[in-house]
Amino acid sequence: FLFAHFSFDEQLMHQIRKSEYTQPTPIQCQGVPIALSGRDMIGIAKTGSGKTAAFIWPMLVHIMDQKELEEGEGPIAVIVCPTRELCQQIHAECKRFGKAYSLRSVAVYGGGSMWEQAKALQEGAEIVVCTPGRLIDHVKKKATSLQRVSYLVFDEADRMFDMGFEYQVRSIASHVRPDRQTLLFSATFRKKIERLARDILVDPIRVVQ
Ligand code: AMP
Repeated sequence: FLFAHFSFDEQLMHQIRKSEYTQPTPIQCQGVPIALSGRDMIGIAKTGSGKTAAFIWPMLVHIMDQKELEEGEGPIAVIVCPTRELCQQIHAECKRFGKAYSLRSVAVYGGGSMWEQAKALQEGAEIVVCTPGRLIDHVKKKATSLQRVSYLVFDEADRMFDMGFEYQVRSIASHVRPDRQTLLFSATFRKKIERLARDILVDPIRVVQ
């Protein structure tokens, strides 16, 4: 399986070549075509599987399509994850690959400066990478709005549940329009995650690493 099978455009292929990835990982081979098709997806995958790129590359394609269709404010894609470190890592990948299209990414997480994050959000970004509670705080303070979000990712869902973020995760899902595309990643697929998937995804395809 080759990167060429994804039919990414030249800008994105250029960034992938610069990363010196020689071939897609299994989760990318299976997940990228599903995400590109617009379907909801459950990815059972651990760190190290290449799952981040598996949701970032289709996200970039989605954003570029969506930007042409719809003007407006606020992010088009939101990635929700459990920790500040993961937020920063995902944000770095978004910047790396999003550079191909001059897309802007902002990271908002607990422990960082509310004021600086709010300022970055207000300057505008197509992508927001966040921890759940902090995103909700910013929405409540009207530093950003979720009205334009149509690509929503929950990464490491099981860890977010372990950290007590179930209520916040569900709250974010309920504030994003129902005709969005949703991707849920988790290292395990326990009953609680299964229930979440049933509640916030529509007819998802399940991919196991
Ligand atoms: P992740 O599972 O998303 O945390 O990715 C683990 C690591 O694999 C990261 O350092 C990525 O940069 C790297 N990676 C992602 N996709 C590929 C690929 N197709 N080939 C080689 N390395 C990759």
